[in-house]
Amino acid sequence: MNDQLKSLRQLSCADDYDPNSMPVDKARDLIARFLEPVAATEHLHVRAALGRVLAQNVVSPLNVPAHDNSAMDGYAVRFSDLKEGAATTLEVAGTAYAGAPFAGVLTAGECVRIMTGAVVPQGTDTIVMQEHVEATERKVTIGSGHRKRQHLRRAGEDLAAGQMALKRGAFLRPAEIGLIASLGIGEVAVYRKLRVAFFSTGDELVSVGTVPTEGQIYDSNRYTLYGMLQRLGCEAIDMGVVRDDPQLLEQAFSEAAANADVVITSGGVSVGEADFVRDLLNKLGEVVFWKIAMKPGRPLAYGKIGDAHFFGLPGNPVSVMVTFYQFVRDALLKLSGRDPVVPLPTFMVPCTASLKKAQGRTEFQRGILGRDPAGNLSVRVTGEQGSGILRSMAEANCFIILPTDQGNVAPGTLVEVQVMEGVV
Ligand code: AMP
Ligand code: MG
Repeated sequence: MNDQLKSLRQLSCADDYDPNSMPVDKARDLIARFLEPVAATEHLHVRAALGRVLAQNVVSPLNVPAHDNSAMDGYAVRFSDLKEGAATTLEVAGTAYAGAPFAGVLTAGECVRIMTGAVVPQGTDTIVMQEHVEATERKVTIGSGHRKRQHLRRAGEDLAAGQMALKRGAFLRPAEIGLIASLGIGEVAVYRKLRVAFFSTGDELVSVGTVPTEGQIYDSNRYTLYGMLQRLGCEAIDMGVVRDDPQLLEQAFSEAAANADVVITSGGVSVGEADFVRDLLNKLGEVVFWKIAMKPGRPLAYGKIGDAHFFGLPGNPVSVMVTFYQFVRDALLKLSGRDPVVPLPTFMVPCTASLKKAQGRTEFQRGILGRDPAGNLSVRVTGEQGSGILRSMAEANCFIILPTDQGNVAPGTLVEVQVMEGVV
């Protein structure tokens, strides 16, 4: 048995960790100890790297901008030519356009008409906005009160040559893709996508396209899981529905672990479920089962099957999504090479109505964050909170996180909300 896993077992059973009432934070910390990011990389064209994780540092090969240039349409002047407290009239010696610099050399008393983005002509050091001059064809008259080097964008002010532009582990969003392109870099190294195999367990489940008989229900967990995995940039390997049959399950677990970095299942981990899932996983790998002190989503299994990480999520559709957001998301980001892994942001807002909450567990109620008629942010709960009511997730845009010691919540109380989507 892997020593690390032995220690997971021991930790999970240690006095201060009650595996029958594991606090959310403890479970997160325990999982985090086992996460080694993927190492393999591939080289991609900068556009194809959108949504991927950078596997190299990107150091700027040049100054951005490359030259001092004008931030305004106006006139490039020598500050020393401007009179203090009086107007100055200068000769216009030529024009500098973005992409077509002024080639001449200025003498005292001359200035250059300049466009935004044009290289600041040699000898000039200050830009006067066109709105602040009186211009004739060959001359401009400039009032007093200008500052030396005003309206100049300095060479290297965005990034200096040799400066770190992006660090290994950065998530490549549109801004990062643009930044890389601005350095003239056309290809970058990214980590390979994390391979995540998932399947649903349950005799009662049928897939879309099959007509359910009495007592059968449509499998929705494979759809929510697929969606969440796609959003995280993982390669999602859908293995379908597996019946509650030890042989079929063993086959599915082995196949999944052989083909993927991570295996995620839903259903079959609650108390009273056929114990063969537990026995099977203990035979195939090292898995600990916890009852997390949370609602929804109490039962959760974590461990390893061979080299693959395993997350056994509960069966109820809302519990699947909540446990995924609270435990699996950050773990997958870490495994994908993201550094740092930034948890979904939380902040405090008043809640509009009273909330029912039992002490002794963390609750993740589904909320709708919005503005009240006065324009202030507030949150309200989405109707019924049953762990089978997937509609509550569809209506929600945030979780209302109510901590362990919290009891019922009175209207107007500040509560912690966690937005479900990152801000892009
Ligand atoms: P289990 O943990 O397997 O006992 O499942 C708990 C509840 O979730 C049961 O009511 C199941 O029918 C339901 N459930 C389990 N898996 C799915 C699924 N893939 N899609 C929808 N509901 C499910
Ligand atoms: Mg089941």
